[in-house]
Amino acid sequence: MRKEQRNAFILKRRQWLLIGLLMLIVFLSTASLHFIKSQSQGQQTQNKKKAAPVVTLNDKAAESGSIEQLVNKDHLLLADYVPSDLVGLSLKSVRPVQMRREAAEALTKMFDAASRDGITLSANSGYRSYAEQKTIYDQHVQSMGEAKANAISSKPGESEHQTGLAVDLTCDEMEGDLQQTFVDTDEGKWVAAHAQDYGYIVRFPKGAEKITGYEYEPWHLRYLGVDLAKKVKKSGLCYEAYLKKYGKQAIK
Ligand SMILES: [Zn+2]
Repeated sequence: MRKEQRNAFILKRRQWLLIGLLMLIVFLSTASLHFIKSQSQGQQTQNKKKAAPVVTLNDKAAESGSIEQLVNKDHLLLADYVPSDLVGLSLKSVRPVQMRREAAEALTKMFDAASRDGITLSANSGYRSYAEQKTIYDQHVQSMGEAKANAISSKPGESEHQTGLAVDLTCDEMEGDLQQTFVDTDEGKWVAAHAQDYGYIVRFPKGAEKITGYEYEPWHLRYLGVDLAKKVKKSGLCYEAYLKKYGKQAIK
């Protein structure tokens, strides 16, 4: 009888130990799951913070190919983005140039108006595909190193030229070249004074290098439509700073 009691006691003790062990396992796995979850949430928040764009204005515009869309080193175009309404320019140019229809028509008006003022403009470069931009960027990196290449050119996806809304202008005096001295030519002065009347802005102005991420480019024009281009010009700000200050309502 005693032996049976002792056996029963041992059995019960084993049962309790087993239950205790099971509870411990359940507790430990719940706690570790909670820990992993909170860790990954922390990581996500960190990632989100890191990836947050400077301006969130045109997230949807990037997909729709909106005329106002912001493209820069923080707002990239997809590799397969190609504007659906590209047309060839029938204007004086260094090489065959394509742009989106609306931008091309506005540029034609600008060239005509310049011509009436005795100014002969020439287009150097317009739409560039993602692949073409990659070739250009890689060549720059090879010839001048990554830091300098980043200051004067764009990585693929970062270039406004892929939007079909940007054009590089030059003139005979510049021998078709793109240099900051363009601003000292009659053509460069005319462009600086009148581009906004045809919907264009000088996209990388002097003094905004730290915001735009590019050196001063008096030749690189970006089409925004007459209304917005005039507003940006009047503000005296680069496009990034303009959007940050005035936001969406300024575009309407
Ligand atoms: Zn350009």
